[in-house]
Amino acid sequence: MSNLKPLSESSPLASLDEWEDDLKRRYPEPAAPGDAPAAATDKGEAQFRDYRAEARASVKEFYRLNHRYQTVDFVRTKREDYLAKSRRKMSVWEALEYLNTLVDDSDPDTELPQIEHCLQTAEAIRRDGHPRWFILTGLIHDLGKILCLFGEPQWAVVGDTFPVGCAFSPKIVFAEFFGENPDRQQAEYQSPCGIYSAGCGLDNVLMSWGHDEYLYHVVKGRLPPEALYMIRYHSFYPAHRDGAYGHLMNAEDRRLFAAVRAFNPYDLYTKSQERPLVAELRPFYQDLIDEYLPGELSW
Ligand code: FE
Ligand code: FE
Repeated sequence: MSNLKPLSESSPLASLDEWEDDLKRRYPEPAAPGDAPAAATDKGEAQFRDYRAEARASVKEFYRLNHRYQTVDFVRTKREDYLAKSRRKMSVWEALEYLNTLVDDSDPDTELPQIEHCLQTAEAIRRDGHPRWFILTGLIHDLGKILCLFGEPQWAVVGDTFPVGCAFSPKIVFAEFFGENPDRQQAEYQSPCGIYSAGCGLDNVLMSWGHDEYLYHVVKGRLPPEALYMIRYHSFYPAHRDGAYGHLMNAEDRRLFAAVRAFNPYDLYTKSQERPLVAELRPFYQDLIDEYLPGELSW
């Protein structure tokens, strides 16, 4: 049919949620709490193959662009631009409302507004009796997705994250797409440590650019280290789910990755059609925001 639109060059996903829904397919929810995650069992490899065969064309194209364009130079350019935090002054709640203005091609009957994913994540953490900073982390963890509203393409906002400047791990989903990445032609980036040294610590490593790294720099120094790790590395699936890049980590990273792993199920498995009552929940969350991140933040 002539009116079929081609996949958009920069935005092949109907919505950012399409990437997260695909993650859930790759890392299905364990049958019972305490069960090992599926990818870590003996069946892991077969499931990974099935996952690849059944990936949607839009998701595959999204990963192709992500792996093609996330380079050391790209990451350095984005950091220089965004780490100045000179775009806007907004409170946390204003940022949530701003994120909620993100309109995409998704089906409004099945996709939840962004603010509802934030609240569902936070509410699940709250129900399990976790500390207040952990609940707040659930609420804010995806605020960096406002990068989309600043004009960034999907592949520079979401997607599994990974270090640049060293060899791309074969454990990264669709790793073969790195064949098109110009950094593959840079000799110094081809060894496991690349431009880094073994055990140097992730804080010294440039991660692919996206919503995790951006929000980390917005709230840095204002939340406990566990919360900052949850925010900064929640999309670093090659490490927190598949054990890659341990050679770049130091003891502090290994200790704090326990927090990243504790956070992940709340991010992946709490989406439901039961819609949170935003106005009713607001006072509780406003108190939480005022406790840790009062007033306006620089974005
Ligand atoms: Fe996220
Ligand atoms: Fe999320």
